[in-house]
Amino acid sequence: MALYARWHCKDPSCNNYDKHCFVDASNDRKHLSIDAKDASRWNRAIGNGLATMGAPSESQRAILVKKNAPAQKKAKDAVNTPAKPDKHVHIHINRAKHRRNNSSESADSEPTAKSRKRGPVPSSPVASDSDPEVELEGYIDYLIEQIPSQKDLLLAAKEKLLAEALDLPGIRILDNFTWARLDIPLGIGLRLKRKVKIYTKGYE
Ligand SMILES: [Zn+2]
Repeated sequence: MALYARWHCKDPSCNNYDKHCFVDASNDRKHLSIDAKDASRWNRAIGNGLATMGAPSESQRAILVKKNAPAQKKAKDAVNTPAKPDKHVHIHINRAKHRRNNSSESADSEPTAKSRKRGPVPSSPVASDSDPEVELEGYIDYLIEQIPSQKDLLLAAKEKLLAEALDLPGIRILDNFTWARLDIPLGIGLRLKRKVKIYTKGYE
């Protein structure tokens, strides 16, 4: 818009800097901000021969003076106020994003925690190999890693479970009597049963 180009505010000390000000030569070169509404009214007045590009009509000038004079500060606030809700909304969006990130992070960290618990167990051959013997081997190694003091009991239990051709899902359904029949200490049996759920979950 020609008016805008003409009255582009180039005074960095002006509140309205880089927007549009009518610099009122008859009033100490005061900057009177012009918004789109003012500009279109001014343009109309130019069309009607009541104003020029260099000066608005008297009534327009009065409007600009009134709008700017008492409200230099108010005008600034009015400019800032809509920016605040904007910022607010923006922060909300960021928080929502952040929360989403966090939840995905915690979802990510879950398997991480599991794999940490599983420690140096070679998970790849176990995961891909469906051989129950290899699977059981990996599982027992995993438990030994967790409770090294029970290594001998666990290795003994492994032999007995292998002799029974039990796979990991089979261990899950063994009852206390069966552990006793297999001559596997109940504490070991219960641990084998309890942990197998956690262990296999990591591969599902
Ligand atoms: Zn200005």
